[in-house]
Amino acid sequence: MPRDKGGWQVAPAPDGRGTPDHHKPAPPHRLRGFWLFVVGLLLINWLSVLVLAPSAQLRVTVPFSPYFLEQVGAGHVKSISTKGDEVEGTFTRKLRYPANDRKATPTTLFSSQVPAFWDNRELTALLRSKDVEVNAESTTSSTSLLTEILLGFGPTLLLVGVFVLIARRSMAGGGMGALGGFGQSKARRVDPEKIRVTFDDVAGIDEAKAELSEIVDFLRSPDRYVRLGGRMPHGVLLSGAPGTGKTLLARAVAGEAHAAFFSIAASEFIEAIVGVGASRVRDLFAKAKQAAPAIIFIDELDAIGRSRQGSASVTGANDEREQTLDQILTEMDGFESEQAVIVLGATNRPEILDPALLRAGRFDRRVAVQPPDRDGREQILKVHTRSIPLAANVDLGVIAASTPGMVGADLANLANEAALLAARRDRDQVEMADFTDSLEKLMLGSPRGTVLSDEDRERTAYHESGHALVGMLTPDADPVRKISIIPRGMALGVTLSTPDADRVSYSREDLEAKIRVALGGRVAEEVVYGKLTTGAESDIEQLTQIARHMVGRWGMSDKIGPIAVLPSDASGPFFPGTSETSADTQRLLDEEVRRLVDEAHTDVTRLLTENRDKLNTLMQALLAAETLDGADAYAAAGLTAHQPT
Ligand code: ADP
Ligand code: ZN
Repeated sequence: MPRDKGGWQVAPAPDGRGTPDHHKPAPPHRLRGFWLFVVGLLLINWLSVLVLAPSAQLRVTVPFSPYFLEQVGAGHVKSISTKGDEVEGTFTRKLRYPANDRKATPTTLFSSQVPAFWDNRELTALLRSKDVEVNAESTTSSTSLLTEILLGFGPTLLLVGVFVLIARRSMAGGGMGALGGFGQSKARRVDPEKIRVTFDDVAGIDEAKAELSEIVDFLRSPDRYVRLGGRMPHGVLLSGAPGTGKTLLARAVAGEAHAAFFSIAASEFIEAIVGVGASRVRDLFAKAKQAAPAIIFIDELDAIGRSRQGSASVTGANDEREQTLDQILTEMDGFESEQAVIVLGATNRPEILDPALLRAGRFDRRVAVQPPDRDGREQILKVHTRSIPLAANVDLGVIAASTPGMVGADLANLANEAALLAARRDRDQVEMADFTDSLEKLMLGSPRGTVLSDEDRERTAYHESGHALVGMLTPDADPVRKISIIPRGMALGVTLSTPDADRVSYSREDLEAKIRVALGGRVAEEVVYGKLTTGAESDIEQLTQIARHMVGRWGMSDKIGPIAVLPSDASGPFFPGTSETSADTQRLLDEEVRRLVDEAHTDVTRLLTENRDKLNTLMQALLAAETLDGADAYAAAGLTAHQPT
């Protein structure tokens, strides 16, 4: 998408409305005069150096004897100046050195070196007899004071100039600053038709699509709505996890309605230079109104729209944020009802938004963009495999079934990875194996290529078997899909368990099962070796997090009850020690977390001790095969494979 000089991106409407204009002169700016001043000074600097600097002419180094002495004898030397043994001077006319070399540039400036043993009295006599002017200082100091000053200040002025340039460029959002003419021609070449996105490109989130089709309708024929006295929404808030397709959806709305599409991330309003956020907002809205019907898409709205209550800041960054936010609200309040401009905001944390944003006439419609269900995932895969030749054995339904929790962006990525993998394997078509291998790589990370010692391999095999076996033996745990002791990323091994269906909520039993599975690896090491290693760090982090949330946020501890002890914001209170709950409650939270984990630890230890034989056979199988998929793992442990429901 072309980028406007205001810093936002634009997908113009098919008839060109909203195309960034490049021919208009840059708006006058208060720094412009200063900038011209700097350029002027630099110009003077350059000119005076040209005119006054003696070094503009070449200074040739000549041998003292015979060349220098010869020229003195011939009366060709006008003046010299000495500094120690060094002699610099001027000839009475331009001379070449070497004298018979046609290629040498003639010059009046020369320098030479007086040998230490030379008879100075003889030289003095010679110079005097030829009327040579003798100075004891360097000739360069004879340059004018003005030149000196300009030479001295030149670099400083240059630096100042560069800073001003950078500031201007970043204010223009990396767009068309003083030197920013480069991007222009490129931006103009974009064909509006080519970058259109329509509802056909959006799959698997039909509810959101349905809710937005009214907006499309309005943008297409605003008169119809206005005639009946209706007021169309000014703003729609799209909320949903990252990658669920909020940006895509907004672009599709613009595409369907043939509206110009302006897009900017809220954080970009307040980038780089303080005080420009509000004016940028003004510019953007002015542009959009000009191009109406138009969509303004503001991504990451929470970056500026975060609730103002209780957010204390000492940095002053808040003022900037508030001014920008206020400007957005003012602009939205000022929309005329017949103006077909709609602001679509996106956030993945709607709950922390300032209530002022959600009032009537502002972002008063909310569209939740949910992660796709199994059917939706299949549709999304279809969209992203439209231009990929698929082999007959590819079953997108099966892939969709094995990817619960994945969102549109993940699936787009998966399709792309599979195509790349097939290309690397020199295939004409993408096969199912390319998909499953890519999926494994995406879910588990790519192999690291380190070789473990036998001892580490065995320990890792026990660790992963521990996770897996606890998962298999705990009724509420997610079924085990894959175990591997091939090091990937930071991990030495992985155990992957995913639910059969998409989960929207978890019961206390589910969460306790998760804690147990996370403990399984470490406890297996305890049971087998009786020693601890550092390998369980991320397991411990994960299970602590679950336990703390169970107690502090989800009301799953009887002692604390349904009270939110932990702040929803993971960053916690700004000032340490300003918690909303008493120290007693905090202590109780810690105790309850400890109790939960301790109980789980006892249970898991008993479970693995009782099933030591299963742990051993599973470990042996894993050691031999390095990677086991679900069915093989259940078989190796002597358990019946989990039946997908
Ligand atoms: P968000 O704005 O919610 O973070 P994006 O709209 O940027 O997500 O999604 C990133 C990419 O993922 C899109 O460009 C598209 O290729 C793909 N994608 C996401 N959701 C969908 C969907 N529902 N249908 C098709 N593709 C999708
Ligand atoms: Zn582990």
